[in-house]
Amino acid sequence: MRRICVDMDEVMADLLTEHLRQYNQHFEEELTPEDLVGKGLWVAAPDDRQLQLRAFLDAEGFFEDLPVMPNAQEVLKDLSERFEIFIATSAMVVPNSLGSKYRWLRRHFSFIPPSHYVFCGDKSILRADYLIDDQPRNLLAFEGQGLLYSAPHNLMLTEFVRVNNWLDVARYFESVDPAA
Ligand SMILES: [Mg+2]
Repeated sequence: MRRICVDMDEVMADLLTEHLRQYNQHFEEELTPEDLVGKGLWVAAPDDRQLQLRAFLDAEGFFEDLPVMPNAQEVLKDLSERFEIFIATSAMVVPNSLGSKYRWLRRHFSFIPPSHYVFCGDKSILRADYLIDDQPRNLLAFEGQGLLYSAPHNLMLTEFVRVNNWLDVARYFESVDPAA
C-alpha cells in the first residue's frame, strides 16, 4: 500500500487564520491573507514584532483549538481506506505544541491511529511515496513526490505540483493506483 505523509499546520489545521487574528488584535492592524501573498506573516511583520509573533504560538493551548481545513476530514477518511496515511509535523519548533497537537488529531482525525503520528524535526527523515506540505523546504528535502499545499506565503512558486485545497488533493489521488 502506498504511503502519504501529511503536514499539519496550514494543511490540516488552519494556523494562519488564528495567528493573523491574534496579530491584528494585538497590534491593531488589519492585515488580510491577501497582504501576505508571496511572504507570509513572519516576513510581513516588522523585526520588532517577531518575538510577539512567536509568543502567540508558544502560548498554552494555541494549537488546541485551530480550525480544521475545509474538507480535510472527509478526504483523509476516504484516502485512509486506499492509502497508508501518516501525519508528519515539525512539532519540535514549538515544543509546547506537542500535547495540543496530539489531542487535536485525536479529536478531529480519530480514524488515524497515534502510531501514524510523526512529530519530527527535519522532514528529510520521512520515507513515503507522497508528502503534502505547504513549506517548499520540506518538499525539496523529500525523496518521494511532493505536493505543495497552497498558502499565501507559497502562492508565487511555480516549480512544485500544487494542490489548492482538499478537494484538489482528492482529485489528484483519484488517478493514483494505491498498490503501484
Ligand atoms: Mg505546514
